[in-house]
Amino acid sequence: MTSVVCPYCFDRSAAARLPFRCQMSATGVRGGKPCTAELDGTWAEFMGPSVPPALKMRGPVFTAPRGLAGRLGGGTRADCPNCGVSTPVRLCLRCHSDFPSDYTDQDTRIIALLGPKASGKSTYVSVLINELRNRVGRAYGASITAMGGETQRRDREMAEDLYDRLRLPEATRPAALGFNDPLLYRLSLPLRRRLRGDGSRHTALVFFDAAGEDLASAEAMDRYTHYLAAADGIILLVDPLQMRAVRDQLPVDAGLPLPTVETPPQQIAADLAAQLRAHGRGTSRGRVTTPVAVAVTKTDSLFSLVGDHSPLRRNADHAGGAVNDEDRLAVHEEMRALFDGWDSGALFRQLDRDFAQLSLFGLSALGSPPPAHAPADAPKSGPQPLRVEDPLLWLLGLGGLLPRTGTGSAGRRTAVATPTASTGAAAGGPHVPGGEA
Ligand SMILES: [Zn+2]
Ligand SMILES: [Zn+2]
Repeated sequence: MTSVVCPYCFDRSAAARLPFRCQMSATGVRGGKPCTAELDGTWAEFMGPSVPPALKMRGPVFTAPRGLAGRLGGGTRADCPNCGVSTPVRLCLRCHSDFPSDYTDQDTRIIALLGPKASGKSTYVSVLINELRNRVGRAYGASITAMGGETQRRDREMAEDLYDRLRLPEATRPAALGFNDPLLYRLSLPLRRRLRGDGSRHTALVFFDAAGEDLASAEAMDRYTHYLAAADGIILLVDPLQMRAVRDQLPVDAGLPLPTVETPPQQIAADLAAQLRAHGRGTSRGRVTTPVAVAVTKTDSLFSLVGDHSPLRRNADHAGGAVNDEDRLAVHEEMRALFDGWDSGALFRQLDRDFAQLSLFGLSALGSPPPAHAPADAPKSGPQPLRVEDPLLWLLGLGGLLPRTGTGSAGRRTAVATPTASTGAAAGGPHVPGGEA
């Protein structure tokens, strides 16, 4: 049964139970009278007072007859009981937001992106999607498409900014990725041999951007509650140039444009753990169960601190269309060693205490710093990303959506087992239990 999570209020529901909205087509059937708009009080209340009264009048909502919905399953059409015209539009049971077409055809995975306001989250998502469409997509036989008019528009704008105009999306559109505007993508992966049938398996990916600063405020906390509790995985972006110890270690003549210091990652991680625990995502021993990928960005600026053969200097090869856990652990260890040098490992110890499924990543969305004279521009050569896909692929692998190799090669807690619904045969030794080491 397809399980759909609303990307607006995060209510989870079986697809077959979702109501329909009549499109009020003027061309009725069998001489029936067309439907007229009526007040959708549920949606109006969810959207709040900013919506003009006229827009609160919407097509009538109806539930498909039981037998019909049961037979057809989610994502199909139903005839409006009033006007008789068929409609494909499904909506959320709880908040009455309309879903993009195709959204309810597959299970939903919510990936939360968390980082300080200026951490380049829009640039990161834009580069990540581009890599999934091209280099990474080829390796896994995957394809990714934007769902719904709003995501398609923003997806196009961000790509034009970054790849055609060589401008960082943040510079032109401060709210390119806002809390109220999740980006919705459909990820299609080839079905594995052990599953019946062939073709593709689809997953709706919902990317959300949360400014880490907001986690501490009581007002914003309420909004983030459902969001964080519904997340299947969290990518916590850490800008190393925000850490004083890193700034002090970098060569003076590097000429890097240093960002202003915002909320430190320690604070954001602590607030995140507190939020998730408060909403039932913690174990009895206090560790949060939601997988958290801690991704240190701008690794190109750290090359003077790592060796010539550091895994941070190259992309994972994704050989055989599988996520390589040994490669991931090599990056994890490299980042851990860097953390040790920065704050004697204090941040890592804090993360390790708070999160049961944790892995460190290092990535660079652009591959080199923006030009010193034009900090809002991408490098002249265009983005040449390093390892942007690793955190997402790890989270998808944990969720059983991608095959994994090399798991369990080391007796480490970070090499955790696939928690549920693992359908693929990950090669390698036995899984290391994800509990307390
Ligand atoms: Zn909803
Ligand atoms: Zn109707």
